[in-house]
Parts: sequence; structure tokens; C-alpha cells
Amino acid sequence: MDGSTEPAFRAPDRFAEGAQYIAGELRPGTSGRTHSVIDPATGRTVYEYELAGTAEVDAAVAAAKDALPGWAGATPGERSDALHDFARVLASRADDLAQAESLQCGKPIKLSTGFDVPGTIDNTAFFAGAARHLQGHAAAEYSGDHTSYTRREPIGVVGSIAPWNYPLQMAAWKILPAIAAGNTIVLKPAELTPLTSLLFAQAATAAGLPPGVINIVTGTGKEAGEHLVGHPDVAMTSFTGSTAVGKRVAEIATRTVKRLHLELGGKAPFVVFDDADLAAAVHGAVAASLINTGQDCTAATRAYVQRPLYGAFVAGVADLFASVRVGDPFDPKTDLGPLISHAQRDRVAGFVERARSYATIVTGGEAPDTPGAFYLPTLVTDAAQDSEIVQSEIFGPVLVVLPFDTDDEGLALANDTPYGLAASAWTRDVYRGNRATRELRAGCVWVNDHIPIISEMPHGGYKASGFGKDMSTYSFEEYTQVKHVMFDNTAVARKDWHRTIFGDR
Ligand code: NAD
Repeated sequence: MDGSTEPAFRAPDRFAEGAQYIAGELRPGTSGRTHSVIDPATGRTVYEYELAGTAEVDAAVAAAKDALPGWAGATPGERSDALHDFARVLASRADDLAQAESLQCGKPIKLSTGFDVPGTIDNTAFFAGAARHLQGHAAAEYSGDHTSYTRREPIGVVGSIAPWNYPLQMAAWKILPAIAAGNTIVLKPAELTPLTSLLFAQAATAAGLPPGVINIVTGTGKEAGEHLVGHPDVAMTSFTGSTAVGKRVAEIATRTVKRLHLELGGKAPFVVFDDADLAAAVHGAVAASLINTGQDCTAATRAYVQRPLYGAFVAGVADLFASVRVGDPFDPKTDLGPLISHAQRDRVAGFVERARSYATIVTGGEAPDTPGAFYLPTLVTDAAQDSEIVQSEIFGPVLVVLPFDTDDEGLALANDTPYGLAASAWTRDVYRGNRATRELRAGCVWVNDHIPIISEMPHGGYKASGFGKDMSTYSFEEYTQVKHVMFDNTAVARKDWHRTIFGDR
């Protein structure tokens, strides 16, 4: 539990020049303020750097603007080749990426090596292929007198902001569709977790992507983030983070009429009908609520279980929670690492402490006595549907389980939060499953599973979870704009429609 295994990755050696990556080179920030990256498993500082100020944001946007004509003008095949090379370089650096990710997040190494890093490499390879496959309408004579076709064009310089929970994957989800479509980008990672975004950008340069196509500015949300969102040379903002900050970002982006893509918070329901495979549902709920220590926007947070299975489900989850191995993220056996920070651990504990007055804490509800930001898997029952622990995003290893009687009631309770990012239904009845996929209001609905994602399929929210899609070719809807081109075919001076002006003259 003391996080004592020494990782090989040494950030101060790797980013000695600073944590800003602009036009293919590292440099320091000039905000006048420093920030420490802390290993949350031990509380130790692993890297201290100067935060970006507005000058670095301006320089990064200028670099992206300079790189735009060349990159947007490259053929899809050329961009595809560069992305294939990028995927190969990432694969050759997989261990490095996994170490850095686990170090800055406290993520179990088996999660970084088995999920975050291979997922990112696969996403890069996917967008290498997708870059050659931007689809649109066929050219045709929709009006008898004209030929129409559409052009799908890049938007320009994209400004993106990412959260700390999956820093590498979130950087990849923002950067890859943007550049595959011919845009250039400035990404601001969360200031807690800059390391893997920097490694990702460096790998792109090593693969031959031109300097300035990908730039990273590491600063605070208030200073660097807001300056990037409001920047007049940035044509689009894509943001992943909390709903509260997303609203602020939307306000600023609207002032300069930017294209906007928001991937926000979640509070995913997990609906277990009375014909479900109980063992599958129990295992699914434990894995889907504890993945990444519950700091996953699609994590199972509210399990609604039909009355006949309710008692057995609660007992099954409690048993499995007790068997989860909490500890050193670099021990390959560790299942659950710490939360991202002590502040986040205290925030999670606050939700649970307040719930003690109105709900039952069946297991967990405590932080082990270690220097790290650990919190035990926590199972809560007997909470009211309108209570804070059921309605608010906690972002920690906390699962609430509530019973329901009729299918109508289960689905209505599942839909009853402001969020709509993801949901799952557990049943062996195809009609029940199909009904749930229609009626659950979320951007992703799983049946008999909860969490898997895949590069070919879209990820994005309904309701207060935002709008727009990451991954898949759907993301090109966000990162391209469509132009209608119309050619006259008549070659006459007086077109038929000129009647509206010239009448019968
Ligand atoms: P956050 O909203 O606090 O911060 C996200 C990013 O926004 C960070 O880079 C932060 O520096 C920046 N930021 C903060 N204030 C800003 C401002 N005023 N202007 C511009 N940028 C600002 O979120 P977090 O705590 O880093 O991450 C957790 C949240 O992210 C959760 O709500 C989670 O659900 C959400 N999330 C959503 C998805 C998704 O796909 N929908 C994926 C991952 C995480």
C-alpha cells in the first residue's frame, strides 16, 4: 500500500527544457508560476514546471496557424502515411507511455499497459485509415441546370482542453480526428497530468509530422485555457471535462462564434432486470464502477436492480469489493490505485460522509492510513433517488445500488439525472434489452456489458453530458465543415430563375 516500486520514467530528465511543446520543441512557460506533478500513490513530486501564460498560448496558436496551409493542403494519403508512422512510433514507446501515465495518475500499471496505451495506438491507426475516407454526397444534377457537390474542409486551428482522468487517451481523442481531417491543433492538458500529452506530441514529431501541427500548452484553466478558448485565431474549441467548466467554455467560445464540441460529465446508470445473469451483472458492476478508481465519465455509478435480484446483487458486489487489491500502481497485481489527488480523495469522502445521514454505507467509506490518495471501494444503498449521492457526479470508487419493481420504473429512474453519457441494461430477454436501448437517454447503451469502447464507434453525450462525438468517422462531423459547390450547366446569360427580377422582359 505504500507505492514503493520505483518507475523507470524520470520526468525531470525528459522534460528538462519545460512543459510547453510549440512548433516541435519543448520550452518553459512564462506565467511566472510553477506547478508540481505529484505521484498520488506516494504524495511525492515527480516533476515541477513553469506553467504556460498567455504568451505561450499565442505562440502555440501562431505555430498551428503557420503549419495549417501545408497540413491542410497535404493529400489524405500523405496525412494517412504520417499517421501510420505515428502509430508505429507510439507502439515502439508503449512502455514509456504506460510508465508516465501510471506515475502521474496513480493508474494501475495493468490498466495503462492493457487499456490506455494500446487504445491510443489503435485510435491512431484507425485515424490513419479514416483520413483517406472522408465521405459526402455524390456530385449530381439535383437542379436540372446545375451540378452540385460538397467539399469537406478542415476548420482551421483547433483549441482543445482535456481532463486528467485519461490524459493520454483524451489527448489522442482530441488530436487525432482534428489532424486526420487536415486541421492543426493546440491542446491544453490538465495541469496535474501533462506528461503523456507531451510524449504523444514528441512521438508525432519523431514520426515526421510537421512542427506546429500538434502543440501542447500546459497551464491553468483560468489563464491558458480561457485564453485559448477566446483566441481570435482559433476556429474551434473542443473540450472534455466537467459540465460546470464546459458551460464556462461555451460562454467564452460563443463570443467569437467558434465551432464547439463538449464532452462533459456523466452519472451512468446500470439497470439489472430480474431475468439477468446475476454473476455477470455483479462482476460487470464491480469492474465498471472501479475502473480507473471510478474516475471514468462512463463508470457505472447507479445500479438499479429489480427487486427479486436486489439482495443477492448487493451481497455479491460487497463480496467482490472486499477482494479488490488496493495499492502500489506499479505492482502488476494491483487492481485499484489512488485517486488523482488528495483534494479529489477528500471530495469523494465528502459525498460519502454526507450520505451517512440518509443512506447505508455497506462497504468502504474510508481512506486507508497511507501517504497516498487512496479510498476503499464503497457500496451505498438505501439512498433516495433525489439525494446528492444519486444525482451528482462523484468521480471515485463509489457505487450506489437501488431497487425497482416494474420495467417502466427502472428505466425512468435510470433517465432521472441531468446527465446522459452512457448506460447499460442487463437482461436475457431480447425485447427488454431492445426496449432499454431505445428508451435510455444516453450517447452509448451497452447490453450485458458496461465500459468497452472501440475506435470505430462514436463516444459522446446526450443532455448535460454535452454534444458532439469523439472517435469513429462521426468525429469528422465535428472537425470538418461542409461546403456546397454549385456549377451552372446552362451557359446562358438569362437563366430561368432570373424571372424573379426581369419578369417577362
Ligand atoms: P475540469 O472540468 O475541472 O477540467 C478539465 C480541463 O478544463 C482541465 O484541463 C482544466 O485545466 C480546464 N479548465 C478548468 N477551468 C477552465 C476554464 N475556466 N476555462 C478553460 N479551461 C478550464 O475536469 P477534470 O476534473 O479535469 O476532469 C473530470 C471531468 O471530466 C468529469 O466531469 C468527467 O466526467 C469529465 N470527463 C468527460 C469525458 C467525456 O468523454 N464526456 C471524458 C473524461 C472526463
